[in-house]
Amino acid sequence: MAAPRNESVEDRNNLLSQEDHMGSMERLAMEVVALARPVPSVVRVTGRIAPTDPTAWRRPNLAVRLEVETPEGQRPVSRVYTIRSFDEGRSLVDIDFVVHADDSPAMRWLERATVGSAIHLVGPRPHYLPDHTAEGGIALFADETAIPAIHAILGTWQEGSHGVLYVETADRAAFDELPEVEGVERHLLLRDPSEGAGTTGKLVAAARALPNPEGCMIWAAGERQDIRAIRAYFTEERGLPKDRVRVFGYWRKGMSSSEIDRMRLQQYEAVRAGGGGLAQTEDLDILA
Ligand SMILES: Cc1cc2nc3c(=O)[nH]c(=O)nc-3n(C[C@H](O)[C@H](O)[C@H](O)COP(=O)(O)OP(=O)(O)OC[C@H]3O[C@@H](n4cnc5c(N)ncnc54)[C@H](O)[C@@H]3O)c2cc1C
Repeated sequence: MAAPRNESVEDRNNLLSQEDHMGSMERLAMEVVALARPVPSVVRVTGRIAPTDPTAWRRPNLAVRLEVETPEGQRPVSRVYTIRSFDEGRSLVDIDFVVHADDSPAMRWLERATVGSAIHLVGPRPHYLPDHTAEGGIALFADETAIPAIHAILGTWQEGSHGVLYVETADRAAFDELPEVEGVERHLLLRDPSEGAGTTGKLVAAARALPNPEGCMIWAAGERQDIRAIRAYFTEERGLPKDRVRVFGYWRKGMSSSEIDRMRLQQYEAVRAGGGGLAQTEDLDILA
């Protein structure tokens, strides 16, 4: 099926393929070798890749851009997903797609995908990890789209480090799949199926109720408005230093990621025009 014209993001100045943006990422083919439904809310895609430097894929919480549609004469339509796990010996990645009801590029790709399907991806982009040296421990806040990132972070949890985890999802089984890790207290913020994702404010309420956040390391990912509210609470109301608040908005309720990507590119173009680079951009400051 051809993508609607407005899903592709035009990169007029060809900035996205330049070194500042690419870093050590590369564009790779991925072959789908398995598709599974481990829990009701998730389709798990296992893909085989042949990276130039497999060691770059060992780090937890890596993200990739999957080229889910390739409209003729336009840039591919891409969507960002987390590498839930990487099996270096077999060169396999697991990527969990949270299934949602919209007719969207990622959901259309998922519908078409079968064992043997080929797709291109760009990555791996390292995303935030918590700092285990924080005296007050680590507080993690995630909605269902960030469960794969939490899975990767818990898989490399530092012994002796303590934390508290809050996960909002309507799927108890998705939460239960997370590994139990010594020192991490887990809380499920179960959403009623009648409530839409990104509508309950449960994560924001949990953040506001966190006892003694001073000295804590905050890690959060999920719907952009929720994450923006969490960032504002900890940095503005509680005065935590910015480097103690590592947060990222993964999706925006009611908005296509193509729209957010267009705004990201505009911000990046402005920063580059002023002599800066990717490190000087702040994703949550984009008004998406
Ligand atoms: C760093 C990073 C890592 C991510 N990792 C993952 C991951 O591992 N797994 C994962 O599932 N997602 C992940 N996401 C989020 C994912 O990229 C978005 O959900 C994306 O919008 C999906 O694309 P789409 O084509 O389905 O929908 P879009 O075309 O972007 O949006 C279409 C409509 O669907 C809505 N929508 C999008 N996602 C959801 C959702 N989850 N629930 C309800 N409504 C939604 C939008 O609000 C919009 O109204 C990650 C995002 C980032 C930035």
